[in-house]
Amino acid sequence: MKEFNRKNFLKFSMYSLSFLMSCSTESSGNKKYERLFINSSKKIIILGAGISGIACARALIERGYLNITILEARNRVGGRINSLSYKGSALDLGAAWIHGYKNNPITSIAKKLNLGLFPTDDNSVMALQEGIGALPEDLVDGYESAYENILELAQNIRVPNKSRKEVIQSVNEGFFDNPVFLSMYSASEEFDVGGDGSEISSVYFDSSGSFSGGDVVLPQGYSSIIEYLKNELDIKLNQVVSSVNRVGNGFNVITNNSTYLADVVICALPLGVLKSGKISFTPDISQKKRNAIQKIGFGAVNKIILEYPTSFWDESKQYINYFSSTKGNFSYLINLKTYLPFNMICGITTGNFSAEMDLNSDIDNKNALHKILKSMYGNSIPDPINYFVTHWNSDPYSLGAYSFHKVGSEPSDYEELSRVEPPNLYFCGEHTNEAYRGTVHGAYLSGVRVADEVKNSVF
Ligand SMILES: Cc1cc2nc3c(=O)[nH]c(=O)nc-3n(C[C@H](O)[C@H](O)[C@H](O)COP(=O)(O)OP(=O)(O)OC[C@H]3O[C@@H](n4cnc5c(N)ncnc54)[C@H](O)[C@@H]3O)c2cc1C
Repeated sequence: MKEFNRKNFLKFSMYSLSFLMSCSTESSGNKKYERLFINSSKKIIILGAGISGIACARALIERGYLNITILEARNRVGGRINSLSYKGSALDLGAAWIHGYKNNPITSIAKKLNLGLFPTDDNSVMALQEGIGALPEDLVDGYESAYENILELAQNIRVPNKSRKEVIQSVNEGFFDNPVFLSMYSASEEFDVGGDGSEISSVYFDSSGSFSGGDVVLPQGYSSIIEYLKNELDIKLNQVVSSVNRVGNGFNVITNNSTYLADVVICALPLGVLKSGKISFTPDISQKKRNAIQKIGFGAVNKIILEYPTSFWDESKQYINYFSSTKGNFSYLINLKTYLPFNMICGITTGNFSAEMDLNSDIDNKNALHKILKSMYGNSIPDPINYFVTHWNSDPYSLGAYSFHKVGSEPSDYEELSRVEPPNLYFCGEHTNEAYRGTVHGAYLSGVRVADEVKNSVF
């Protein structure tokens, strides 16, 4: 176990001072501070330096714990938040939006850091159909109201063990054969939920909550939030955790090149990694948690960003809806030029289509999107000068995009994912927060929740 060294002592002094100051208005008495000092020497290991693990570490420090180490497999922090530095700007390859900016804890951090927030507008969209090109607005409006009517009817049909796809088809048999409906569905529900329509639960597909206000993006990159939060934390990179073993009253955590001892372990690994069985727990975690890990879905979403020497699309519109007969096939394109100084289009793939494309090479995926843009705007468009392709589904440290209610899952499964395995093995991450699943704020809040659980435990 790591010694109480000078660096930690300085950190401890600093944080306990600020903690005590922040508590000065509370009438908690000396007992609380006494407990704080006793607990602070306990060793806490957090697995994963995504936003949930980092938020948890910070919240623990604010609660008086200082002996905390985060083990991260990659050579970077942030997990599914990954802003690539590019020509003085940032390209968000994972999370990009703060969903519902009002009262959102991520907005508070962004404001504190004076980060610019760019509001996006779902209505700023143009529509193009495969093999046809731009569609007149009134035709798209007509499709849209028909689409909404079908989904409204389907919303009232909630059948355990039936997927959204099956239920929507029961309302309108030809829905998924119509390229317009198909693409509208991929661009909205599948992208939002993160799963394929054939897997999304018809009962709980819309069970998550949301913050109010519109959505905003961070032109300086989402990683600015991570850079700030990770300040002063002890994070060990390139540590691929393979097992967590109870030894005596504590744990040993085995990585690719080290063993770490801990009194408390907090697992902030993605659901995809837990599903893969690549992490062994000895003794094994409860059967209930293992069932929940299998029952909750973990979907596929990927981004392909193409940069062109000049723009050839309508620069005033934020989005392009691409109506294709293949579900998930770049149904949603983002005109990044609205908030970045580049001629860039970001294509989104979702569901099973995204999982299949994930296995292709970057060049093949770049060519696939370029071909679609050619079919929309003509063969004379220039070739891309640069491209960026994600593989969240096959990346061994995410193995998917975000969690969703799969057919057969229940809210109690999300609860189970969030539950402590007593004593002292805690779980956080977006997949442990049903209300805000699949989001950065959901992951952040789950980390803070676990810090409270640790503080409130008898330990
Ligand atoms: C393409 C895409 C777009 C998204 N868009 C948005 C959006 O616009 N807005 C939004 O709010 N959310 C969005 N999300 C979801 C959001 O990114 C996640 O919900 C959130 O970042 C998850 O944080 P986390 O801490 O739970 O997990 P992660 O960020 O995945 O963190 C887990 C960490 O564990 C590490 N790890 C994995 N395996 C091991 C191991 N064996 N040993 C050690 N470390 C390991 C990983 O490297 C990672 O750093 C998007 C996600 C994707 C994939």
